Amino acid sequence: MSLWFRIVRKKVRRRTRVKNTKNKIALSLHKEDAKAFTLSRLEYWNQFYNFKYGTVKIKSQTTRWGSCSSKGNLNINYRIVLLPEHLADYLIVHELCHLEEFNHSQKFWNLVSKTIPDFVQRRSELKKIRLD
Ligand SMILES: [Zn+2]
Repeated sequence: MSLWFRIVRKKVRRRTRVKNTKNKIALSLHKEDAKAFTLSRLEYWNQFYNFKYGTVKIKSQTTRWGSCSSKGNLNINYRIVLLPEHLADYLIVHELCHLEEFNHSQKFWNLVSKTIPDFVQRRSELKKIRLD
């Protein structure tokens, strides 16, 4: 391997490391914001439902906006802080309603529609937003 090549490779590695560190810091700040935001919106919307939920985790996955485990733990994508308010609220209510209905049955959508009557519109809007 030539010396020139080794020097270039070293520089690229260093640049990548700095970039990754910056990204990690940005992500952890977003996650803190997302956690505070999610907890306060959950509390707000749960006034209407009074469901019990477990741990709330903020995730950075690129495949889903949120999920609810059978144990009642909620996972929310940190990108919730980047959403317009009406979609962020839809996401919160959607996951909240899974605490009661663990599927997408008519019963589930009835629950969602109690607080988000235009959920069909919001659902399709959210689906159009890419996660990656
Ligand atoms: Zn769902």
